[in-house]
Amino acid sequence: MKKVVKFGGSSLADAGQFRKVAAIIMSDPSRVYVVPSAPGKRFKGDTKVTDLLIRCHETAQKGGDWESVLEEVKDRYCAIRGELGLRSPLEEEFALIAEHLRLGTTIDYVASRGEYLNGILLAEFLEYEFIDAAKLIWFDADGRYDADKTRQEFERVLNGREHVVIPGFYGARPDGSVKTFSRGGSDITGAIVSQAVNADMYENWTDVSGFLTCDPGIVANPHPIRTITYRELRELSYMGATVLHAESIFPVKEAGIPINIRNTNDPEAPGTMIVAHAGQDPDGDVITGIAGRKGYVVIRIEKDMMNEEVGFACRVLDVLRSFDISFEHLPSGIDTMCAVISEKEVEGRESDILNAVSRAVNPDFICMDRGLALIAVVGRGMRNMTGTASRVFSAVADAGVNISMIDQGSSEMNIIMGIREEDFDKTIQNIYKAFY
Ligand code: ASP
Repeated sequence: MKKVVKFGGSSLADAGQFRKVAAIIMSDPSRVYVVPSAPGKRFKGDTKVTDLLIRCHETAQKGGDWESVLEEVKDRYCAIRGELGLRSPLEEEFALIAEHLRLGTTIDYVASRGEYLNGILLAEFLEYEFIDAAKLIWFDADGRYDADKTRQEFERVLNGREHVVIPGFYGARPDGSVKTFSRGGSDITGAIVSQAVNADMYENWTDVSGFLTCDPGIVANPHPIRTITYRELRELSYMGATVLHAESIFPVKEAGIPINIRNTNDPEAPGTMIVAHAGQDPDGDVITGIAGRKGYVVIRIEKDMMNEEVGFACRVLDVLRSFDISFEHLPSGIDTMCAVISEKEVEGRESDILNAVSRAVNPDFICMDRGLALIAVVGRGMRNMTGTASRVFSAVADAGVNISMIDQGSSEMNIIMGIREEDFDKTIQNIYKAFY
């Protein structure tokens, strides 16, 4: 058994958190590859080290006092080193970062130092080997992740060694310069390492005990999700449920490695297991989760005999493409068609878009409604269960909410509906009540 364990920023925010992390790793000998984030917030209102580093780079660019910002970062690492009685030569590391900043360096290099330095301290504390991610994780010259080279380099550099710390969030371009993933990207590193070492499990340690069936800001103390499939997770994350970086699912999904979301502050809790396939929920839940997002518009188009007109939808989509707009859903009726689009995509161009669609398909009626929210009810259990849709829609009707659009994916494991933004919370609350 071989596990990759990734620890998020709050799990490594200070020396006390480092001790918890070490206890977790030492309690299971299969936890042999460790991927740390940079130190996160220690308390509400605190600043993450990555944000300080980004500010440091910005300040340097503007010719401001970046030294004091870098000093703040240094203090955080020195405090961890001091409290844990470690000896890593942080002074030399910070002198090198300062040198880079003085000569002009990239934002990626500076931002990545958060993980790099945390990796050095954690490796010393665990008595594990530190290997720089810039030697293992590779991008091509265009900045795209290079899976082949990464696989080769893992074999060559790691050469079967275990008990290794690999910092999250970055890798290198072909010229050796540092390139970071998007924010929260240590999750991606953890997934890549899991795939590369062919791990049996990817444990992702954070500050919550896994996924919840819905947003706790909307429903108080929602049920935790014990098991979820990659597919369900993708649907829920897309609709706004966060915890794990969306792109981090692909490498482990491809390799069929389960992900276990765990809580560093409550290590006994089983957390959420993310797997390729799962049977019915052990608690008998029909739906796995409810998520949603606000901020959509819908373009409604009506035309008599639209149904007979070959290429109608294609011409509408061509117009959207010419505006570089990607749509979310395309519910259609006999002589009607709708395109649901994120508000951000159309902002400031509303009438241009409507005019262009009108010219392209000459509709009898066209309009754009704003203030739409989408809610997704997701669950593998829906597929074999009759009456789920009716339970969902009755719950929405009981809340006195009008549904303006319904879309059920072909996988039959999600129902997506459009409602007014102002009805968002009560719709989710009522659906939750109907199922839990
Ligand atoms: N430290 C980086 C960030 O704050 C990456 C990560 O934590 O995953 O985005």
